[in-house]
Amino acid sequence: MVAGFVLLFVAERRRSLRRRTRPASERAIINAIVSVPAFTLLRFLFIPVMMQVARHNWRRRFGLNYAYNAPTLVKTLVAFLVMDYTNYLWHVLNHKLPLLWRFHLVHHSDHDLDVTTALRFHFGEMIGSVFYRGAFVLLAGASAMQVLLYEILFEGATQFHHSNWRLPVPLEKGLNKIIVTPRMHGIHHSIKKYEADSNYSVIFSFWDRLHNSLQLNVAQEDVVIGVPAYNDPHELTISYLLKMPFSHVRQWDAAPAQI
Ligand SMILES: [Zn+2]
Repeated sequence: MVAGFVLLFVAERRRSLRRRTRPASERAIINAIVSVPAFTLLRFLFIPVMMQVARHNWRRRFGLNYAYNAPTLVKTLVAFLVMDYTNYLWHVLNHKLPLLWRFHLVHHSDHDLDVTTALRFHFGEMIGSVFYRGAFVLLAGASAMQVLLYEILFEGATQFHHSNWRLPVPLEKGLNKIIVTPRMHGIHHSIKKYEADSNYSVIFSFWDRLHNSLQLNVAQEDVVIGVPAYNDPHELTISYLLKMPFSHVRQWDAAPAQI
């Protein structure tokens, strides 16, 4: 994960996709510090809970994957598809349910999008996802190894599609048939509500195709990153971001503060 992060951090500086609006170092520090509670919960709560659920599945032979016979590779693919599809739905819920949006807003309020945005999650969002994602690990009958492999892919994919790395268009087009790419996810972080209400997939991009929530025909130079009501970068301090879900949440385009 660290190696992937460093590679993307270097790559997005060599070949940038979108022009930055804020100093990169300022955002990197804010995003890194905001991520500490969420990252601690991820390592010491989320992953151990997922492992426990997977062990429970194994002991009780519980869940979808224990209900049929097939090679391990097939079962691994089934577990990945269940976990990834339900993560697509979780992301949609994070945008549609006001309670969840309070937490997810912290992530979307970033004024640029790069690999450090992949760290910027409020710890409250992590707590919610333990229950939600744990339930689907249980129902999928996923094994501990499948959960761990999926988690590695999930975190790697999250770093990749948040990065500001300009890939050659034909390569990105090809990759995008299967996985979420930086241009695709960049549109999801747009200040335009109808663009932000698209491209919810995490690893596999086909969930958006399936649900008609895919939007690709937006040039990256036209994408402005952020949430209109939170466009004052001086307001978004570390303590403000950590308290954000527990204070008044503005409508998407309510009276924006002046930059
Ligand atoms: Zn989102």
